[in-house]
Amino acid sequence: MAWLNGFTRSVHNYLSSPPTHRKDPTMSDQEPKEPSSPEEIEAALTGGVPMGRWKEGLLFEGIAPTPGLLSAANWFPKTEQLGPDEMRIIFMGTSPSIRPGQMNTSVFVQLGNGDNFIFDIGEGAIANYVAGGFALNELDKVFITHLHVDHFGSLPYLYMFGGWSGRWHKPLRVFGPSGRTAEYGTEAMIDGMKKMLGWHMDAFSVFPVGQGHDIEVNEFDFRDDGGLIYEEDGVRVIHWQRSHAKDGASAYRLDWNGLSVVWTGDGRPNRRDIEFAEGVDVYITETQAELMSISSGVAGVPPFLGRYTVDTHHTPGYAAGYMANQIQPRLFMVTHMDFDPYLNEETTVEIRHHWKGPFHFGAPDGIVVNVTKDDIWVRQGILPDYPNSRSPQFDFDSGQLVVPHPPTTRAEIQDQGIRDSEIPPSEYYPEGYHPELLEEWPVEGDLVVPIEVAPELTEGMGENWRHRKAYERHIAELGADSKAED
Ligand SMILES: [Zn+2]
Ligand SMILES: [Zn+2]
Repeated sequence: MAWLNGFTRSVHNYLSSPPTHRKDPTMSDQEPKEPSSPEEIEAALTGGVPMGRWKEGLLFEGIAPTPGLLSAANWFPKTEQLGPDEMRIIFMGTSPSIRPGQMNTSVFVQLGNGDNFIFDIGEGAIANYVAGGFALNELDKVFITHLHVDHFGSLPYLYMFGGWSGRWHKPLRVFGPSGRTAEYGTEAMIDGMKKMLGWHMDAFSVFPVGQGHDIEVNEFDFRDDGGLIYEEDGVRVIHWQRSHAKDGASAYRLDWNGLSVVWTGDGRPNRRDIEFAEGVDVYITETQAELMSISSGVAGVPPFLGRYTVDTHHTPGYAAGYMANQIQPRLFMVTHMDFDPYLNEETTVEIRHHWKGPFHFGAPDGIVVNVTKDDIWVRQGILPDYPNSRSPQFDFDSGQLVVPHPPTTRAEIQDQGIRDSEIPPSEYYPEGYHPELLEEWPVEGDLVVPIEVAPELTEGMGENWRHRKAYERHIAELGADSKAED
């Protein structure tokens, strides 16, 4: 009942054990007044409040705030700990057409065991991850549904700057479909991306790199419908084909701890979706409403181009509702569409034609969904425009922080002449101000810092690590409890 607000909670407390009247020594000298009768207090404090006596509004069973939420309306980055058996889904990008209010599509899934998974990472979405309080080096698993750039445009940035800011001890893991031929598969895209980043990668090798420039590419056969492509720590991810004009487009389903989510990626409604999404908790697909003459004008494309694009590539609102009704998820969501007042009502009505169950928009950017076995709740995440980014996150299991030695030096990749022509600092720093410049990497070999030397390192940089340890203790306690019951 943690979601009850303070008022109803105090009513509960009062009714279950009315306080005895003792004078609190910290209170003022004012004499306490004669208390109202218990009947009057009950009448006032519970009047009009459901208290489990009736159901308010049209909310569906199981659509309620999960325990541990600090606000029923908003999620504020870095303020809430996920419950050990809870899943959180954040829409980090929600539109095929990038614009300041909506980045390209990305669906972020966090699990109570401390793990996280990125499904698609469209252009601009990475800014929302930063705003959401996630360190780039903790974002190390990306599942791409298909190789339209609105689904992977942020990957080069995550790859390079995640490596720069601390992903030194593990590769970036990318999962994605094969293509009709090898040149159209995920591996070929990654090869091309590495080529594109040649200059950048070499330039960044004056910094610690370690495994920061490694990518583990997991290209799966897109035809292997239902194929299991990830199975670690109780998390399973399967994929299946979608009809999206070109071979390769895929959908994903993640299952963990009795909770599940499907992100279909782009595509026309398809029987395979019904087969593999069966029994899912949160079913997310993409949609486009029928207002083509208006919405194409808003998007700045001729109507026939909009219509042709939808009819060959996408899921109309009516079809989205139809799919949801076939699949019967605990919560149905749509994303990958313009989120505009003129459009949302239309989309809702089209979806409601077939689907009468729980429904929310997976838009605009920052929509947050908490999922437990009992409840699902959707809120607006508050993503700041100018955030304090999170420190890189490290695993302190070894009792030390290891900063790899940079693989190269400026001297190796830059002509001496251009450095010689740098303005000497004494010319621009004011007299008497002599900062100590760090022009050469200060350490021979890897820097190794035992945590007993600088325990404060595990504060900001070990938040995830400590969360994972707490989860391991939770699991161990559950094991001990079930043994005790035997
Ligand atoms: Zn798309
Ligand atoms: Zn697409």
